[in-house]
Amino acid sequence: MASSTAGDNEMLEDGMSAKDMINTGNGITYNDFIILPGYIDFPAEQVDLTTQLTKRIVLKAPLVSSPMDTVTESDMAIAMALCGGIGIIHHNCSAEHQANEVLKVKKYKHGFILDPVVLSPTNTVEDVQNVKKTHGFCGIPITESGKLGGKLVGIVTSRDIDFMEGKDNQNKILLQDVMTTKLVTGPAGVTLPQANAILEESKKGKLPIVDDKGNLVALMARTDLKKARSYPYAAKDDNKQLLVGAAIGTRDEDKARLALLAHVGVDVVVLDSSQGNSVFQIEMIKFIKTTYPNLQVIGGNVVTIKQAKNLIEAGVDALRVGMGSGSICITQEVMAVGRPQATAVYKVSEYSARFGVPVIADGGIASIGHITKALSLGASSVMMGSMLAGTTEAPGEYFFSDGVRLKKYRGMGSLEAMDRKDANGAAMNRYFHNEMDKLKVAQGVSGSIVDKGSVLRFVPYLQCGLRHGFQDIGSKSLNGLRTMMHSGELRFELRSYSAQLEGNVHGLFSYEKRLF
Ligand code: GDP
Ligand code: 5GP
Repeated sequence: MASSTAGDNEMLEDGMSAKDMINTGNGITYNDFIILPGYIDFPAEQVDLTTQLTKRIVLKAPLVSSPMDTVTESDMAIAMALCGGIGIIHHNCSAEHQANEVLKVKKYKHGFILDPVVLSPTNTVEDVQNVKKTHGFCGIPITESGKLGGKLVGIVTSRDIDFMEGKDNQNKILLQDVMTTKLVTGPAGVTLPQANAILEESKKGKLPIVDDKGNLVALMARTDLKKARSYPYAAKDDNKQLLVGAAIGTRDEDKARLALLAHVGVDVVVLDSSQGNSVFQIEMIKFIKTTYPNLQVIGGNVVTIKQAKNLIEAGVDALRVGMGSGSICITQEVMAVGRPQATAVYKVSEYSARFGVPVIADGGIASIGHITKALSLGASSVMMGSMLAGTTEAPGEYFFSDGVRLKKYRGMGSLEAMDRKDANGAAMNRYFHNEMDKLKVAQGVSGSIVDKGSVLRFVPYLQCGLRHGFQDIGSKSLNGLRTMMHSGELRFELRSYSAQLEGNVHGLFSYEKRLF
């Protein structure tokens, strides 16, 4: 690196500070600007992505999955936390269902199946075949009650039923007549290495875990042990349980929902509103902070400094920023209200940083570059919907259309999501509060999204890409990046429309875009 004197500095000044760029006039979003490269004197692996999700919760990865019913239930939240981020369980369901999803994350033990499919001795071979058809496995523990927690009396595996496939009398053969009753089990509380050793010695495919009364508490599968990996970045609480969040509304009945969520140990709640600057939200924040002082509260959504000020004064532990930037969102089109996302993230972050309130950039993230850009404008983490929809861990089944494997992805303000009723028939939605409204006004669309494989592979790809981006910028950490941005050391440039075209693939007759 060439040395420079103070006199040279002005000549070396290139690009703009974030502040100057944002204040040039029009609201801008991620594609409108680019970050100028810095100086590299460290390997990408050294980049530390540790960040504050809220005032008190620290994550090793700045990645949050959105509380949407096609994005985050327990499978997604577990995978996100294992990779160092966090998932926020949606609330388009009954309070009991949501609390149970939170509980599954809190109870998760790596390598153990804590809610295995269980049958009873009087179920039939046909029932096992049906489990195999819907779930893809057929190693099934048999308990007296046919339920988890019942006394373990046997196990049925493919070897017990393989030769019965297609036979007419399958529906008459009872499992008590085919199940294996000489069982090798592990004791409750067994550690992963201990269970591994028992499986290795017994040469079995499944290891039921039982308590001291012989009741089934969990199951282990040899196939999982073989692919078991360690997750050094996993987001965990003091009891070594995975961190998890849950979204709630700001109505009175949400207080009962909150009580259930707090009871099962949720770590953070997100007040889910598209326009968070309301008397309802401010009252809810105060209620939570006095009733559950240990629970972290994320307020929002906000996009202006005045909105942020009110929620910060009410006591939020983090702010969710974004209005109308989501991929499935039509708020700006229908309501004429919102803000371009890059401007919103910078403005709110700049203000909230003075109070130590972290910002979550929510919506509009479509690539690793967008994540780096959101973080470079002051966000501490990003919340993603479409990036994570279509993964194995997102709720819903895959289906094919024109030979492409897809999953459903929809806005929570789409008519389809708003029409979803809970078990009691009550509609749940943040976009449709007024039961007097005869006509619903949609703020989102519903559609489909291409299969992306497992989050356990996709999120490490995001982390690796972020580290390379940070290396190009010349920042060894996320905290360092923010300091560079606030001091004006981090330089930006706006991109003309043709510069944006140039920045994308162009001039090819055809190409294949494989990301990892
Ligand atoms: P099986 O021999 O047909 O049961 O299938 P494998 O043991 O080869 O694979 C079962 C896979 O499904 C493993 O990765 C399990 O973790 C997973 N799995 C998830 N839930 C369950 C469950 O309730 N029962 C069983 N047997 N496997 C489950
Ligand atoms: P994405 O990551 O897909 O671009 O955006 C996800 C975000 O969009 C969510 O976290 C949420 O803030 C927002 N969102 C989800 N559903 C809707 C909707 O129906 N309408 C609007 N306006 N925003 C939505």
